Amino acid sequence: MASRENNKCSFCGTPSSKVGMMMTGLNGCICDECVRRAYEIVKEHDKLGKKTPAGMELKSLPKPKEIKDYLDQYVIGQDDAKRCLAVSVYNHYKRIIQNASEDDEVEIEKSNIIMVGSTGTGKTLLARTIAKLLKVPFTIVDATVFTEAGYVGEDIESILTRLLQVCDYDVDQAERGIVFIDEIDKIARKSANPSITRDVSGEGVQQGLLKLLEGSMVNVPPQGGRKHPDQKYIQVNTKNILFICGGAFDGIEKKIAQRMNTHVVGYQSVQNVAKLDKGDMMQYILPHDLKEFGLIPEIIGRLPVLTYLKPLDKAALRSILTEPKNSIVKQYIKLFGMDDVKLSFDEAVYDYVVEKAVEYKLGARGLRSIVEAIMMDVMFEIPSGTRKTYKVTLEFAKKQLEKANLGRLQSA
Ligand code: ADP
Repeated sequence: MASRENNKCSFCGTPSSKVGMMMTGLNGCICDECVRRAYEIVKEHDKLGKKTPAGMELKSLPKPKEIKDYLDQYVIGQDDAKRCLAVSVYNHYKRIIQNASEDDEVEIEKSNIIMVGSTGTGKTLLARTIAKLLKVPFTIVDATVFTEAGYVGEDIESILTRLLQVCDYDVDQAERGIVFIDEIDKIARKSANPSITRDVSGEGVQQGLLKLLEGSMVNVPPQGGRKHPDQKYIQVNTKNILFICGGAFDGIEKKIAQRMNTHVVGYQSVQNVAKLDKGDMMQYILPHDLKEFGLIPEIIGRLPVLTYLKPLDKAALRSILTEPKNSIVKQYIKLFGMDDVKLSFDEAVYDYVVEKAVEYKLGARGLRSIVEAIMMDVMFEIPSGTRKTYKVTLEFAKKQLEKANLGRLQSA
């Protein structure tokens, strides 16, 4: 048998001394360059072999109930939002399949989604989890970085640059992806009446967004940022891209309450007012309230699915800590498990963490920082020690948190 050094690539004949890496099989060898080329050929072949442009079939599409069940594993509560999302996402992909088929008697319209709810209630988590289930490209963009053409900031088209980047510039894939636009409320006009002067951050950006939301061919700068006259663009059709927008819409409850109070006339209505759940006005939100907040009617029209998220109470925070499939507590147990240490917590520690998160108004995002502060010293010591189990007690948690100075977490 020839020695390894004398091997030649069975495909291109290059000797092993001239290649970066040579892989040997039973009856031959292949060099790294040929592996790369073969990979490109296989990728190209897969692309051409797709049944529909979207590469999807109705049979393989998860049904709304299955989507909700999946979301339940990762997101606590928010049942209304989950059901609404599950149905809209299912319909969206059904629409893509229908468009790909010959039958176009009844064209199903695109239904982008808008989710309203305070920060840290799970809007991004919901969108991200759905994208994971569907295995489609997903990206999160912040509406606040975009400005009207001619001003400092990013062009609105660069939203799609990020989508292209996550799927390696595969335009086909990007065209059926999901884009989550966060903080959509921050581009609202300052008043519901159209302004006669120029409004840099608000209305102009909304106008720019319109084009993307309704579905059109867009010239995307491959590297993002500002469009440049000499730059080559990638053309992306946004017809099948699902846009999910999220925003806290601070103060919108007041507008909802105003509407509900001013529209009540007569005995029947007085009865209805009594039944209102004043603690959670968000559930009564209507597109009209978004207009009052400063979104232009054209944008609202292109976000036909409106849903809301509830503020998280103590019980919800407690569940978030331990129940989701990749809950914070489960993540720490796994981390310790990798060092062969069995980690456990006193139940009282969970209540304490939740109490502190509420006290310092940190919300669900704060749970992680609090647990991290409690665990930091242990995580430093344990890997070099000999212990096989570790139990976090309430007393220990309190001591660590006091030491960590919670005020610092609050400003983070
Ligand atoms: P939003 O987009 O509404 O501001 P996120 O979805 O980014 O909030 O939530 C922040 C973090 O809080 C998430 O990464 C998650 O760990 C946790 N979280 C928030 N809401 C929930 C929820 N309903 N169920 C589980 N985890 C949640």
